Parts: sequence; C-alpha cells; structure tokens
Amino acid sequence: MLTYPRITIDLKKLKHNAKTVKELCAKQGIDVYPVMKGVGADRRILETLSDVGFKVIADSRIQNLIKGQDLPMEKMLLRLPMISAADEVVQHADISLNSELITIKALNTSAKKQNKKHKVVLMVELGDLREGILPKDIEAVAAEVLKLENIELCGVGVNLTCYGAVIPDENNIGELCAVATRLEEKFNIKLPIISGGNTSSIPMLLENTLPKKVNVLRLGEIILLGTESVAGTLVEGYNPDVFTIEAEIIELKDKNSLPTGKTGYDAFGKVYEAPEDKGIRRRAIVAIGRQDIDLDGIWPLDSKIGIIGSSSDHFILDMEDVKDNYKMGDTVKFGIKYSSLLRVMTSTYLPKNYIN
Ligand SMILES: *Cc1c(COP(=O)(O)O)cnc(C)c1O
Repeated sequence: MLTYPRITIDLKKLKHNAKTVKELCAKQGIDVYPVMKGVGADRRILETLSDVGFKVIADSRIQNLIKGQDLPMEKMLLRLPMISAADEVVQHADISLNSELITIKALNTSAKKQNKKHKVVLMVELGDLREGILPKDIEAVAAEVLKLENIELCGVGVNLTCYGAVIPDENNIGELCAVATRLEEKFNIKLPIISGGNTSSIPMLLENTLPKKVNVLRLGEIILLGTESVAGTLVEGYNPDVFTIEAEIIELKDKNSLPTGKTGYDAFGKVYEAPEDKGIRRRAIVAIGRQDIDLDGIWPLDSKIGIIGSSSDHFILDMEDVKDNYKMGDTVKFGIKYSSLLRVMTSTYLPKNYIN
C-alpha cells in the first residue's frame, strides 16, 4: 500500500532521456556513463539504464555500485578512493577516478592481492579546484602509474562546475585534450578514455564546440531531470518530470494572510517575518514537511499555487488562484531540484511509486 507523501518515478520518461542523450553523444563519438548518485543508485533506475544498453555506470559511493553489481555494466567510482577502502574499491569498481599517486599505489597493492587489473582515470585540475592533478605534474604521475603492474592507466578526465562553478569551454576542455595527447606521445600509449566532464558539458556538445578528442561524458542531471547545469535550463526534447512528489491536502480554508496577535519566534526559533497583507485567501496545508524533504528544493507543478511556509510536517500553500480545482483529500504535485532529489530518494518517509 502506497501512502502519501510519495515520489513517483516515471521509468518510461527516464528511459527516453537516457536514450536521447545516448544517441546525441553517439553521433559525436562519445560514450555516456550514467551517474546515479543523485538517486542513491535506485535499483529500478539501474535496471532501466542497463536495458538502454550503457556499458559503464558511475557513482560516487561504493555502496551504490554494489547495488548494480549483477547488471552487465562496468562500474566506475567517481569520488577519489579512500586509501582505507582500497580493497573494496578494487573489489567493486572496475575503474576509478584518481588524483593521488599514493592512493593509486594502494589500489595496485589491493589489485595484486585480488589478482585483478584495476583501471584508473587521472583527473586533471583545470580551474574548478575540486579534484585533479595540476597539469604541470601529470606526466610525472603518469610515469609512475605506468610502472604499476596491476593498474591500467586508461584515461584522463576533468570535473567542472562543481566547487568553483567554472564553465566548460574551449580553453579548459582543450587543455584536457592537450594533456591527453602529450601523455600519448610521450609514453607511446593510447588512452581510451578522455572524459570531458558532467552535465555542464552538454551545452558545448549541443553547440558542437566540444573538442573532438573527448569521448566520454559522465552524466547524471540531464538523464534524471532533463536540465543542463550551466544555466539550469531544460534541454529541448528531454522530460523534466521523471520525478514528481505528491502530497495530500489535510486542511483547506479561507484565512487571513497575516497572523493575529503579537508575534515572536516560529517553530524553528526564527523571528516571524510578516508577508504582504493580501487579505483573506484560500490556504491549504499539505501533509509533507521538512523532515521528509528539503522544501526549498520543490515547487508546485501547478504554477498558480503559491508557497506560504512550512514546518517539520506541514507545507502551507496559497490556493486562492486555483480555488475551484482542489478539494479536501486531493493531492498537490511538486517538481524537484537535483540538489534535493537524493534526500527524497533515500528518505524512509516517502514510498516510491514506479510507472513502467
Ligand atoms: C556528480 C559527478 C558527475 C555527474 O554530474 P552531473 O552534473 O549530475 O552530470 C560526474 N563526474 C563526477 C566526478 C561527479 O562527482
């Protein structure tokens, strides 16, 4: 029995987004590695992506990779491995992104013990200031990595628009490609993976300005929500509503827009700030609150509904302009931001309603 609030996951719409981006990238010689950290590697979503035919699935956590271990896709660990988890990384991930030689040596030791070869992609720091080896150091690191018997140096990558909000362009992605060419020439090797970033590289791809040497993108947001992450806009041809939240109306009344009486602190210790006085308005309380979800990350899909406020278990909405359309017991549907999706998908309070 599914109760409210609930999250509805439309697997058909998800499949459409995944196929659309896969085909778009394939035309430009790019493999897509779907990134599932935004949904805690939900099993049904993993299965759907496996059906679409992706070769590699990526996540920032080992626990999430394990959820798909029986599915016929290689596993890529996105977050730099912890040295203390080297054994688990080698056991559960085929490929990992790396920026520290000491960690790669620990992976080599683990791989030797497990009689495996572990693939590494060297991350290059190109301005965003999260993970990455400085371009001036990359050749020295690569030279050491190539000596490790149980490690296969399989590529270079970059991650942008995360910490520093740096936008991918011809300079930084061009530099990634130049680094790759330098390594290939210097060591007489072929790097099968040139991983030119995440969803924030989609605008370049659409404008046909992504350097041709890039052959892998690691994509989460565009598949899950259909949006790109430079301007945050919906990309044409993608479904924005793979995920919707539904919550039930538990009170529907006409009330004043301002409280009556002397005001002090609210339930969260904040001084009450009076909104504009709009007189008497139809208000709804829906049964969803801050303990279910980050309410700043959701919005009513019906654009005529306004948001008034919230507490741990209540969301108060302005229904004045949709008076005739909602009655007690109806539900209100909400869209959700990428940054809020993970908490919803891992919340024990919201059952998941899958549409096949
Ligand atoms: C999260 C992440 C991605 C995917 O980012 P999206 O913006 O969701 O496409 C790709 N690479 C790394 C290293 C990440 O941490």
